[in-house]
Amino acid sequence: MSFDSFPVCLCLTGKTIAANLAALESQRSKIDIAELRADCLDPSEKFLIRSFPEKAGLPCILTVRRRSDGGLFEDGEGVRLVMIAKALSYARSDANANFAYADLESDFHMPAIEEACRTFGTRIIRSRHFIDGMPEDLDAVWEPLIQEEDEIPKLAMTPQNASDLSRLIGWAATLPNRDRLVIGMGTYGFPSRALARRMGSLFCYTSFDSPEMPLAAPGQTTPDSFISVYRGKETGPKSSLYALLGSKSILNSLSPSIHNTAFRNMGKDALIVPFPSESIESALVNMKLLDAKGAAITVPLKEDVLPYLSFVSTDVKRIGACNTLVARDGGWAGYNTDADGFERSALEFLGREDFKGMKVTLIGAGGAAKSVALSLHRKGAECVILNRTLSTARTLARKHDFIWGPLDDRAIDVVTRYSDFIVQATSVGMGGEIQGDPLEFYEFDGHEMVFDLIYRPAKTTFLGRAEAAGCKIINGLKMLRYQAAGQYRLWMGEEPPLEYY
Ligand code: NAP
Repeated sequence: MSFDSFPVCLCLTGKTIAANLAALESQRSKIDIAELRADCLDPSEKFLIRSFPEKAGLPCILTVRRRSDGGLFEDGEGVRLVMIAKALSYARSDANANFAYADLESDFHMPAIEEACRTFGTRIIRSRHFIDGMPEDLDAVWEPLIQEEDEIPKLAMTPQNASDLSRLIGWAATLPNRDRLVIGMGTYGFPSRALARRMGSLFCYTSFDSPEMPLAAPGQTTPDSFISVYRGKETGPKSSLYALLGSKSILNSLSPSIHNTAFRNMGKDALIVPFPSESIESALVNMKLLDAKGAAITVPLKEDVLPYLSFVSTDVKRIGACNTLVARDGGWAGYNTDADGFERSALEFLGREDFKGMKVTLIGAGGAAKSVALSLHRKGAECVILNRTLSTARTLARKHDFIWGPLDDRAIDVVTRYSDFIVQATSVGMGGEIQGDPLEFYEFDGHEMVFDLIYRPAKTTFLGRAEAAGCKIINGLKMLRYQAAGQYRLWMGEEPPLEYY
């Protein structure tokens, strides 16, 4: 079977054939293949499976996944065998009315069914799933999957960290050319899905992702995300790869969407993909394995990366953190675009050229606050830095000749004096475990200009309270865009297109 471009497969996990067909119809323009996960169907729907390919009107995969492989099928192997046999039975001369593929696990060997598949042009996907981790010996689990030349071996496993992903990527690169599917599931496996084409996979599995149509496997994207956000169809092994490096939360970052939109519209054969990484060391190994040209770095790796830089920009030296890597002949060059991003968005917001004559409260003394402090200092602000950990506030304040204080009601007076501009640069308010308002002890009177670096949620409790008191407010979205524009300039060596940043 051949496709015009890299194929996208939509996994259908609805309880009814009608629900699956409705989901398929809504995604038809974006997908090339549909996988009917027959294990997810209500029992009464199962007699309708045979007619699914004809109704679907595009190549379909039949899958009846057992619980032990990450599916919902609970009856015995005899029942499963009958279900598969019925779905493939009465093959029609019109191939479009038959399943194009049947996913049969490596321990499912039923010569009559396999023979029928071959006779009527249904390709067997010979699969093995590791839903809780990675097998030690990848070659050993691969070997039984590649016994028949006309079958498509599929190995899906679950990296537990970025080092596991390195093992997966390194091993996949050694495989000889053939139709195959090699997938890393879950958070750490995500890059292998977004880079399915680069990984040598025949197509990419995606999910509809709604309450009625849950993800078929952990880490799957929607067809839209795969195509639009990650450029999965239009880029390939030779495209310039950039990585977004950080903790697991980067899978929710807006950065890939911002950069990839700009790359597409500027005609760049480039893409950026998030690599959740537990350490900078494993992140850098993955970048080397995939020949990445650069990276955007977020918390908590911005400082950890410093020992690995062969060139350090002035801002990185002053801030003590690096948010951008560029591959150079001699190694990684490290830059920081956060201070510029903050400065541009803050001055636009304030309608000023600099911060001279302004008394500013900066809340936080972490990586982002360090960039903000540099900008406030070089553009002439007077500032007090408040932080939960007083010692880090003191270290940062001393660097810039600022004053410092604790982040509690002992700081009410100093905030009142430094209240022209209040900048919130802690993680408090991002949601999850870090909810709340870091300045709850202070009452806004409406004259303060208030900036929260957080952009998701768009309005934190802190920002909402300031707005309700009559303050002018801004969240961190523009800062994010402007610091990303700086990254584009460093990576592409040209001015960033302002309409996309
Ligand atoms: P970070 O280096 O981990 O620093 C975290 C800061 O938050 C520290 O000051 C920390 O205080 C404080 N903090 C954390 N939990 C707290 C709590 N429960 N109560 C009081 N203070 C707490 O993180 P970061 O890189 O600076 O990022 C901080 C925020 O800025 C994040 O929300 C991030 O998304 C945002 N950010 C936005 C942009 C943008 O472009 N808009 C760019 C960078 C960062 P301690 O020192 O006491 O731990």
